[in-house]
Amino acid sequence: MEKKIAVIKGDGIGPEIVNEALKVIEAIAQKYKHTFEYQYIDMGGASIDKYGVPLTDEAITIAKASDAVLLGSIGGDTNTSPWYQLEPTLRPEAGLLKMRKELGLFANLRPAYLYDELKGACPLKEEITEGGFDMMIMRELTGGLYFGERETKEIDGQMVAHDNLVYSESEIRRIAKRSFDIAMKRRKKVTSVDKANVLDTSRLWRKIVNEVAVDYPEVELEHMLVDNAAMQLVKDPRQFDVILTENMFGDILSDEASMVTGSIGMLSSASLREDTLGMYEPSHGSAPDIAGQNIANPIATILSAAMMLRYSFDMDEEAKNIEDAIEKVLKAGYRTVDIMSEDKQQVTCSQMGDLIVENL
Ligand code: NAD
Repeated sequence: MEKKIAVIKGDGIGPEIVNEALKVIEAIAQKYKHTFEYQYIDMGGASIDKYGVPLTDEAITIAKASDAVLLGSIGGDTNTSPWYQLEPTLRPEAGLLKMRKELGLFANLRPAYLYDELKGACPLKEEITEGGFDMMIMRELTGGLYFGERETKEIDGQMVAHDNLVYSESEIRRIAKRSFDIAMKRRKKVTSVDKANVLDTSRLWRKIVNEVAVDYPEVELEHMLVDNAAMQLVKDPRQFDVILTENMFGDILSDEASMVTGSIGMLSSASLREDTLGMYEPSHGSAPDIAGQNIANPIATILSAAMMLRYSFDMDEEAKNIEDAIEKVLKAGYRTVDIMSEDKQQVTCSQMGDLIVENL
């Protein structure tokens, strides 16, 4: 199979971790006889330094013409970097928001998976994490409270602010369909999270999710109120497979879910639209404090590349091959500094990439 990948190395540790992900997918290409064509584009600080803007029209055109976008991370030290002296629309993050908008990426996927070997890093009690957990948070990314009309004004001598929470039937239907499709590739359970006891948007959300569920008789659907979901995530995370939710609830719950895994350098993410194009990136930032030292953990980016193979290229076996190789390397006791513990062998960012390739 031939696929075009737009690669954005980004800032800070971005180039180091993306290089390792490219090493791994090139090895996959050779093993399974695929051809991946890479087109390198700039975004964030690197683009500001070269072109004066965090994302150029040319970069957007290249991304749109590709089958998937692989991103490291963007941004610098927000206290010291000159990028943060610029007006907000010219800062690194503005490039990322623009890219998401231009590509129409409405579904954000964040897996939270507890590796047996990294249980020590999980802040939950052992009896709760026994047997591990493996869930996927599906967050609606382009609607809801963050995109509604907002205003702050003075009324009767005091300041009053409002933010509008709006969802249309079609916005709910497309993320629901995507979630059920993904559940079909996993353990076939969807937990739809809302606040239907209070909010009209949530009642519409529940109605549309129920309608979509009719087309997926194999998938078990349950509805859960967001306050209960926040509790259940720490009480019994094993019960979840796919969690489907709106933008703000997803923002909060996905951070909670990733915290319970305990290791930021291991968490991948994907942002998708209706067709197969997606953007794949680690959940963490550009870690300027450790940039250029070859000590960053590349696993979140390598797992994001595996998601790219699964969700944009429909290469399930290849993705599983990468995930299994990572598990083998961890089982063998190799760790980057962020997940290092006693009796384990510390390796660099590039050594971790090499070890994963060796175990494919
Ligand atoms: P961060 O995630 O970059 O770093 C937080 C801490 O985790 C740091 O101590 C860092 O060294 C460590 N860390 C992160 N990733 C690691 C890895 N792969 N291996 C080992 N250690 C790792 O968060 P921050 O410091 O708040 O933000 C730094 C910059 O990243 C900021 O400019 C921020 O805006 C940006 N950021 C970008 C994205 C993105 O590109 N999507 C996301 C979050 C933050």
